[in-house]
Amino acid sequence: MPASAKSVPPEKTTSPPAAAPAAPGAGLSAVQRALRKLGLVRDIDFALYLPMRYEDETRIVRLADTRDGDMAQVEGVVTECEVVFRPRRQLIATIDDGSDTCQLRFFNFYPSQQKQLAAGARVRVRGEMRGGFVGRQMMHPAVKAAGTALPQALTPVYSTIAGLPQPVLRREVRSGLARAVLDETIPVQIGWRGAWDLRSSLTFLHYPTPDVAMATLEDHSHPAWQRIKAEELLAQQLSQLQARLERAAQRAPMLPSSAEPQASSLHAQLLAVLPFGLTGAQQRVGEEITRDLGREIPMHRLLQGDVGSGKTVVAALAAARCIDAGFQCALMAPTEILAAQHFGKLVGWLDPLLAERGLRVAWLTGSQKKKERDAMSAAVESGEAALVIGTHAVISEKVRFKNLALAIIDEQHRFGVAQRLALRGKAVGHLEPHLLMMSATPIPRTLAMSYYADLDVSTLDELPPGRTPIVTKLVADHRRDEVIDRIQAQIAQGRQVYWVCPLIEESEAVDLRNATETRDELADALGAAVNVGLLHSRMPTAEKQAVMAAFTANEIQVLVSTTVIEVGVDVPNASLMVIEHAERFGLSQLHQLRGRVGRGAAASACVLLYAPGDSGRVGEAARARLKAMAETGDGFEIARRDLEIRGPGEFLGARQSGAPLLRFADLSTDTMLLDWARELAPLMLDKHPELAQRHIDRWLGTKAEYLKA
Ligand code: ADP
Ligand code: MG
Repeated sequence: MPASAKSVPPEKTTSPPAAAPAAPGAGLSAVQRALRKLGLVRDIDFALYLPMRYEDETRIVRLADTRDGDMAQVEGVVTECEVVFRPRRQLIATIDDGSDTCQLRFFNFYPSQQKQLAAGARVRVRGEMRGGFVGRQMMHPAVKAAGTALPQALTPVYSTIAGLPQPVLRREVRSGLARAVLDETIPVQIGWRGAWDLRSSLTFLHYPTPDVAMATLEDHSHPAWQRIKAEELLAQQLSQLQARLERAAQRAPMLPSSAEPQASSLHAQLLAVLPFGLTGAQQRVGEEITRDLGREIPMHRLLQGDVGSGKTVVAALAAARCIDAGFQCALMAPTEILAAQHFGKLVGWLDPLLAERGLRVAWLTGSQKKKERDAMSAAVESGEAALVIGTHAVISEKVRFKNLALAIIDEQHRFGVAQRLALRGKAVGHLEPHLLMMSATPIPRTLAMSYYADLDVSTLDELPPGRTPIVTKLVADHRRDEVIDRIQAQIAQGRQVYWVCPLIEESEAVDLRNATETRDELADALGAAVNVGLLHSRMPTAEKQAVMAAFTANEIQVLVSTTVIEVGVDVPNASLMVIEHAERFGLSQLHQLRGRVGRGAAASACVLLYAPGDSGRVGEAARARLKAMAETGDGFEIARRDLEIRGPGEFLGARQSGAPLLRFADLSTDTMLLDWARELAPLMLDKHPELAQRHIDRWLGTKAEYLKA
């Protein structure tokens, strides 16, 4: 392969020590930069960089024995070689191995290749065999001189990137593996019963002998793969457990609740003003949170519950506990609209009660006028603002709390690691705030055990009473008129409607135009008696809030919007949700959107309008998503299907920036290994802490820090 051979650097690259990572890119060769992009820095990184597939160069086969589609390596004599110019310029050579002949064709070629394939030369070629009416053919096969020794092992093929040719990467991995220290961190006596140790597993997986069944390598079922996957899962469990232990060593303010509920407490008063009684699930989860808050170890709890399961009330009650104990609470949401909804609701419930105590609720966002923000910040600093609600502006550097003891994050997966770290920076003295994270997209059990092993999880598995299930209908786009009739019928009954437009273009201006056109179209069709409003992410905040307020008050009956309403918006009178181009949305996003209706007692419906793409069909994954939506309204089932459609990498990637994903283990099939790792991790941390630390460093390196955020 002359093309790639050219970029081989003259001298061998060496790996810089892991302890002192240089500034990105400084003084590095192009190859080193490419290696870094792949996360290949330390010797061990190379050793753990396993092939995605293999090529078998260990055998020469007879041409006559090959079939169409085989990857084959043959040796023969070149009988002719010429460059032709029609229909395209190409090099065509023919080889003969005594059993048959084969034509080799190259559209891009170098003079050196032409020389190599001169008539009479004996060559070894490797490529995919194709039958054609001209006989056997190979397109762009790899060509070598014949007669050199055959390798003993399969040839690894690594996933690579531009600027890093496969042969170079192979060489780097080979020398990294040779240098790497591969002593055992999981000795037999603490729990690995397989015959394969780390060194033999890695050596084998980079260079397997050809006798092994290729399928066991490809589906990762070979015992050497089992060992590597077990190692990886153990590293993940160890680092999460370590994070949990580190947290256990931290201190948080104890927020005790008196054994007998005092009628005069904010908590009791809030319960009394709520227009409904708590569901059993809300009560149970409330108790779990109360128990955590009463301890001096910081709470680190994920509250998951389907859309509409009533997480906000649980959050408000936790806030009340915190305020009863004399501390401050912060509630953050990923978007200003959602934060404003929380604010509206919680102010309604709590402000009168707080006022009696000389306290108040404060509002903080990035778009606020400086004067207002300064006033709010002052109230936060003095402690007068017992509850602070807003976007992540709440934890910006400038905001100083008097005594923050509880932070509640709604839709936690929208918050990044940096923001969670900033939150920890709000500790009062040595006291960390308790943390309650809320999510409407439940995490399937295996994922929760694996990725959130350092979290406690509470689940609201019961919807408030009196809800009627949402009927979901798939409707082809050309039947829009029927949908408009449906809208009219809902409005005639005094109900309201959401109409969601997707992000279609890269440019927000174009999306705004599309949404505007839809608004006009609907306004035309529905007549002057109906008010059709428009909500778009580009609108100024004040305008957005005004539109939301008008919709809440039923001054607007149909709200056309881009996905800004995705999370958390709560208008119980809305009973119909229309989602346009539903095939373009992700499954959990569709479920979230659907959750905006069915919040009151009225029967609700969700119409998923879909339009086939240019190919005239809806893609397979999109069909699976729409089907799941039509078949189930259960958020846990939706999450399970979403995981099935997307796989864990994407499923989590969308929600958790920075969490190192598993490279080798597969949580849907490796549950036994996961169980093994979960059992071993606490034992190992306890009895062999140094080995545990070495194991974590080896597998996660600097990535381990992410998990602790
Ligand atoms: P989510 O879990 O999606 O955040 P919300 O907290 O917004 O759900 O609650 C959805 C709706 O249900 C709200 O209108 C809320 O006031 C109402 N709600 C919450 N708990 C109950 C309950 N126990 N009984 C009746 N309605 C409730
Ligand atoms: Mg919510």
